[in-house]
Amino acid sequence: MSETRTRFAPSPTGYMHLGSVRTALFAWLIAKREDGKFILRIEDTDQSRLVQGSVEHIIKTLKALGINYDEGPKVGGDYGPYFQSQRLDIYKKFAEKLIELGRAYADPYSAAEVDKFRLDSKNNKKPFLFRNYRPDKYQKWEIGQPLRFLSDPKAYTWEDQVMGSLSAGEEAVDDFIIMKSDGYPTYNFAHIVDDYLMKITHVIRSQEFIASTPKFLNLYEAFDFPRPELATLPPVLSADGKKKLSKRDGAKDILEYLDEGFLPEAIINLLASLGFNDGTTQELFTIKELTEKFDLKRVQKSGAIFDEKRLQWMNSHYIRQLSENQLAEKFEKFWPKEAKGYSSEYKLKVLETFKDRLKFGKELTNLSLFFFKELPVDLNLIKEHKQLSKLETADLKKLLSQSIDKLSKTEFNSNDIQKSLNELLISTGQKPVVLFSLIRIGITETPSSPGLAETMEVLGKEISLERIDHLFQALA
Ligand code: GLU
Repeated sequence: MSETRTRFAPSPTGYMHLGSVRTALFAWLIAKREDGKFILRIEDTDQSRLVQGSVEHIIKTLKALGINYDEGPKVGGDYGPYFQSQRLDIYKKFAEKLIELGRAYADPYSAAEVDKFRLDSKNNKKPFLFRNYRPDKYQKWEIGQPLRFLSDPKAYTWEDQVMGSLSAGEEAVDDFIIMKSDGYPTYNFAHIVDDYLMKITHVIRSQEFIASTPKFLNLYEAFDFPRPELATLPPVLSADGKKKLSKRDGAKDILEYLDEGFLPEAIINLLASLGFNDGTTQELFTIKELTEKFDLKRVQKSGAIFDEKRLQWMNSHYIRQLSENQLAEKFEKFWPKEAKGYSSEYKLKVLETFKDRLKFGKELTNLSLFFFKELPVDLNLIKEHKQLSKLETADLKKLLSQSIDKLSKTEFNSNDIQKSLNELLISTGQKPVVLFSLIRIGITETPSSPGLAETMEVLGKEISLERIDHLFQALA
């Protein structure tokens, strides 16, 4: 059997969204599972859509996620070049071959003439098919002139590895442009030639290409190329499941997630979950497990919902797997600027208090601020608190002064602090939601924070008591 060779063939248009990176991941997993090769090919034939810097962006994204390609830009390979813009001679040769085979012709029409054909079809209530308007005589083709495929219309039924049996009538096959007037090939033509020359065995891509597949099948036949396995991935939907996910739904570029402190392992798992499961309830997989278990037959046909909360949940899981030191290294850039000058021991302790509750790195910037600077007293935190708002100021003050009293006699380690806090519950007759929330507001000036005793231990006795006292003073 021939070697499995899959490819990721992005157009460098500037954005690496979840859907495209998922395509890359699935193609990579198939190659890895079969001990084959994964190829990166840059499809840059549409010169008007090119965005500066996107190739670096694509490479950086794949690298950050550990989706390493065996052949492609920078690493090279036996089937290069891996930029379509550097393969123009190849496309020209294959275009000429099609002409020789009697399966391509120079398009002699102006845009106005084509518009007229279109109108004509519309008036006759027929779908517009270019092949109904072929010229009587074909002119010699020169590069710089549009070249059209001369199709052989027929109905097709084909097997899609994910979608199952698909079919289309002969109206789906038409004479499409293969070479444009700017000398570049179209995607429809170039990818077929490249997949053939690069010996691609599996073409994995998104939904939008299903409609054109009959054209591709017709072209494979014209060239007598073997047909690779085709697999169409389900669309990625917004959290409400109602529409295709877009930037408007808050979906970000993958590098942006990485920049916000989402770990590659979490992103990989999230991407894998967008359409794949192994038939059990397992939700988190190592790369090794994914490689072993991944199978196109287990990819769902229906849309896969993206929910950022799920990504956060996965990320929290991988954050908890890290040691404090690893975490400190990875999240160093997320400390607020106020943390400058604090020792790494202190920061490590702060991190320890957050480890179990952090969903992504960037959260650290705001959440940890109170560890480095005293925030202004905010009495609204009390007014907006369901239980605290019911208490009179005098009662609140009494609770705070009892707390100061008790805590000032406490050894400042989290166990003893916790013991004192529990004793305070008994002596004041208050519930934790009242007493602990009040002390927490004094100490952190935020409605929620890591465990109160741990937080106080890290801040130390002096600062903790000072802050409770500041709240006491502020309550008029
Ligand atoms: N260049 C196409 C795109 O970015 C790739 C489609 C394919 O994988 O064949 O959408």
